[in-house]
Amino acid sequence: MWRGAAGRLLRGGGAGSPRAASGSAVAQLRRRLESELEDIRGAGTWKSERVIASRQGPHLRLTGGGAGILNFCANNYLGLSSHPEVIRAAVEALEKFGAGLSSVRFICGTQSIHKDLEEKIARFHQREDAILYASCFDANAGIFEALLTPEDAVLSDELNHASIIDGIRLCKANKYRYKHMDMQDLEAKLQDAQKHRLRLVATDGAFSMDGDIAPLREICQLAQKYDALVFIDECHATGFLGPNGRGTDELLGVMDKVTIINSTLGKALGGAAGGYTTGPKPLIDLLRQRSRPYLFSNSLPPAVVGCASKALDLLMESNAIAQSMAAKTQRFRSKMTAAGFTISGKDHPICPVMLGDARLAAVMAEDMLNRGIYVIGFSYPVVPKGKARIRVQISAVHSDEDIDRCVEAFTEVGRKHGALP
Ligand code: PLP
Repeated sequence: MWRGAAGRLLRGGGAGSPRAASGSAVAQLRRRLESELEDIRGAGTWKSERVIASRQGPHLRLTGGGAGILNFCANNYLGLSSHPEVIRAAVEALEKFGAGLSSVRFICGTQSIHKDLEEKIARFHQREDAILYASCFDANAGIFEALLTPEDAVLSDELNHASIIDGIRLCKANKYRYKHMDMQDLEAKLQDAQKHRLRLVATDGAFSMDGDIAPLREICQLAQKYDALVFIDECHATGFLGPNGRGTDELLGVMDKVTIINSTLGKALGGAAGGYTTGPKPLIDLLRQRSRPYLFSNSLPPAVVGCASKALDLLMESNAIAQSMAAKTQRFRSKMTAAGFTISGKDHPICPVMLGDARLAAVMAEDMLNRGIYVIGFSYPVVPKGKARIRVQISAVHSDEDIDRCVEAFTEVGRKHGALP
């Protein structure tokens, strides 16, 4: 008996032993997690991932089947993710500068290519300086806390991206949330915020769920009237909005009125990864000293820097790439509207096909894939209840035939499921 008890103790299985206690904690955790996962499945909001067996691009191969799938759901707006020059630049950077820095920037993680890319980003946006992050999520997580104190105020559009919301949560400034793109509400909140030292209005330049563009001219006018700064997140604008692809501020003629831009290298600019802040030099200098995701996370890998750097070169050489998508977007939006669908937003390659019902969005997206078109349905809680949709994203590398095939498939599937008469 003694032996048995000792054996159990040594193996950590005896009742009352620390291992047994932690074993029961693990079992309890498992039960809790499984029930939470079951709730997600039950609510119909489970997100499954399709596995791609080819490069990112307008035509995909999926594992376990589909080849020649037409892809309409990537943020690869300019098709640069698989551009031969972008890939070559990544390979060259990998060979010359290695796989990675094994360090944060301020210890021994800054190479000449990081400095070059920051200079290029600032030049592209016509700003004083820029700072790189591992992602735009990190850039958004780092900026508000570093910049704003309890003496200040931040005014945020209620539909801003999750990373802006999280970044604002981390800071101690006074928080105001204004109704989506509602300038009356923003003005009322700015009036109330006059009592604070500094006011920062924060908005997505283009909103990714609705494909709508922030009214930046009006926002900047209000900011001027109430002495506020303007911050924009340009993840769904950099590289393709505006005559030279500089973004929403260029499109709306307010490049000199927006103070701070955060954006991503993981969408139109080559699609690898990475994010940045660009704006006044003292702000960038302060972020290098204080921004936690910058200070406490590894440097961007050289291959990733190489991709983004080449993408910016291509965009700065000529505005042809930036302009190449407007006609494609227009073709899709007008043909779908003529077919009887409602497309949310305006003039943006994010084209949400509004369906209302969550199940309808899910079955139609599945049926689109059966016809070789990869699109994704979005429903609550990603979008408000009753506003389910299929989000289509146009890329400059879609051909007119690709777009027409997508519209034809939508028309067939819409008729089959009663979304069209
Ligand atoms: N901001 C917006 C508006 C986004 O859509 C995204 C990505 O989905 C991010 C920030 C985060 O960008 P990243 O993928 O570089 O972290």
